[in-house]
Amino acid sequence: MTMPFPLRTSEVRTGRVSVSGDFKKVELMGDCKCGCGKQAGNGNFIAGHSQVLTARLVNEVGGLFSLQELVRSAKEYSSGEKCQEELLGTIQRLFSVKM
Ligand SMILES: [Zn+2]
Repeated sequence: MTMPFPLRTSEVRTGRVSVSGDFKKVELMGDCKCGCGKQAGNGNFIAGHSQVLTARLVNEVGGLFSLQELVRSAKEYSSGEKCQEELLGTIQRLFSVKM
């Protein structure tokens, strides 16, 4: 979806945009963080869509065990237990067969 002109955050939130002093409804870009394009209202997700994002992330990395390994490797790098090359090797191995 394309907007004819940039909208301020407040305009997107209210669903209104001023055109020559008049207000008209505009089709809104969704702000649900799962990426579905729907309006989440005041939260980050519409009901049930946090699981959509969770499932997508797990799938992108190749499964729950791969995600666990990625998080573990990142934490080990952060704490100094793992060097940069080891972390990068883990990342390349996890994503090389999926991309
Ligand atoms: Zn969504």
